[in-house]
Amino acid sequence: ETIPARLAATVARFGEREAAVFCAEGTRLTWREFADEVDRLAAGLLALGIGRGDRVGIWSPNRREWLLTQFATARIGVVLVNINPSYRLYELDYALNKVGCRALITAAAFKSSDYLGMIRELAPELDEAVPGGLKAARLPALTTVIRMGEGRSPGMFGFQEVMELGGAEEHARLDAVSAGLDPDDAINIQFTSGTTGAPKGATLSHRNILNNAHFVTQTMNFTEADRLAIPVPLYHCFGMVMGTLGCVSKGAAMIFPGEGFDPEATLAAVAGERCTGLYGVPTMFVAMLDHPGFTGFDLSSLRTGIMAGAPCPVEVMKRVQRDMNMSEVTIAYGMTETSPVSFQSHVDDPLEKRVSTVGRVHPHVEVKIVVADGATVPVGVSGELCTRGYSVMKGYWDEPERTAEAIDADGWMHTGDLATIDAQGYCNIVGRVKDMIIRGGENVYPREIEEFLYRHPKVREVQVFGVPDPRYGEEICAWVVAAGEAPTEDEIRAFCQGQIAHFKIPRHVRVKDVLPMTVTGKPQKFIMRETMIEELG
Ligand code: ATP
Ligand code: MG
Repeated sequence: ETIPARLAATVARFGEREAAVFCAEGTRLTWREFADEVDRLAAGLLALGIGRGDRVGIWSPNRREWLLTQFATARIGVVLVNINPSYRLYELDYALNKVGCRALITAAAFKSSDYLGMIRELAPELDEAVPGGLKAARLPALTTVIRMGEGRSPGMFGFQEVMELGGAEEHARLDAVSAGLDPDDAINIQFTSGTTGAPKGATLSHRNILNNAHFVTQTMNFTEADRLAIPVPLYHCFGMVMGTLGCVSKGAAMIFPGEGFDPEATLAAVAGERCTGLYGVPTMFVAMLDHPGFTGFDLSSLRTGIMAGAPCPVEVMKRVQRDMNMSEVTIAYGMTETSPVSFQSHVDDPLEKRVSTVGRVHPHVEVKIVVADGATVPVGVSGELCTRGYSVMKGYWDEPERTAEAIDADGWMHTGDLATIDAQGYCNIVGRVKDMIIRGGENVYPREIEEFLYRHPKVREVQVFGVPDPRYGEEICAWVVAAGEAPTEDEIRAFCQGQIAHFKIPRHVRVKDVLPMTVTGKPQKFIMRETMIEELG
């Protein structure tokens, strides 16, 4: 099956039900209205001569135009290229050129970022260009820029204008174009989060992401009666696969609280729209739980949701179940390269497993855990997690070497994550291979120390990582965000004394206002590490 075929099936069954609500704009669409808008945009793209196999970038926070673009490009076999809303000039240049984007659909601005200004700096030729006929020295493949929002810009089409471009001829072609697509076509290039360094462009097919979306929402027993709040970014697989495609596959409604994550707007959307599901990375849930107005929101409609993307502290899981009414909340584990989910807990799993593990493996995914020499480890022993099956990406776009490093000749994706799997199949993510600290010959897993420090009443957030040390090879460092009054370095260390092994006690502790995060809310330890190395000299 292809993405347009799946959307058509959902429209046929649930056409008059609500498909999408954009809380910030105050707009609502039924499935039929949604599909009509998707077709108008798809016909407009065809009229511009854009079609199957062409790469089209989207650079925007969560907006109606993002959602339409996702399904309009899929409708005609265009490869959608997700561009991170927090990218700047240099990264935009890199991403567009890396994959040879023919067109870019862009927001005008987001927060303090002037997107149009950055594009014009990269392509000053726009000022003289006819829309659709750009020839830019630094962006040789790019012919077309389509901007969202009010106003006009030289050399660019307006988004609404493109929606009107498709004539009867293009509309008549849409069904035939969709019918000619192959489920194994590349349909999407997603850059990884950049948690450990430069993002990589994972190339994914209809088969990859549509099937994964299906299993993700099936595990939560989603039906057309469900309403999912999506505060996670659409540019990331959490938003566009687990979120939007997951809803399309069941006919569930998609509720968008706003352009970027805001705890209050998300709580208001859940309460106002009577959402039954909510997605987030752990830090988003913490921000909502700790919001001063938290108790004023009626969250009684919530039932389920997913916490994923980074280690999910047991304490946070318990609070989400108890205080947010999400008794059926699940944890998922995955990565962009595997469409993304490969493990997910289920409401029928024992409570203890549901808060402390990422659940069991998804249907149709094979797993093994290996050590450095490639040998498989016994049950309960940690090693690198490898996965295989329909969900493994086609590869990193135009990077055969990096692809071969990640996916071996037998099709196993090497995740770079350390994990254990118990006798019942429940998986524990121990940390990233790269983040493991080796101090004086002892393997130290930051995750374990983080879990322990979360119990300190003055700790809201904590990240533990290693820094080079002349004596021990590496020393342990903790960055803490305080919950109210800031703890002192000694207080944190005293809290650990006698409770955890001496070699796990952080040598360096720093209290910070904020931690460096990706837009998905993932703590970037490589930046923390670099900062500390500089500070310690
Ligand atoms: P990059 O590959 O660019 O460094 P990234 O790995 O964070 O960034 P993603 O593909 O968005 O990019 O994230 C996948 C990673 O997120 C996994 O490899 C894993 O380390 C982490 N992760 C995802 N879910 C969980 C989870 N439930 N528990 C612990 N870690 C998780
Ligand atoms: Mg990764």
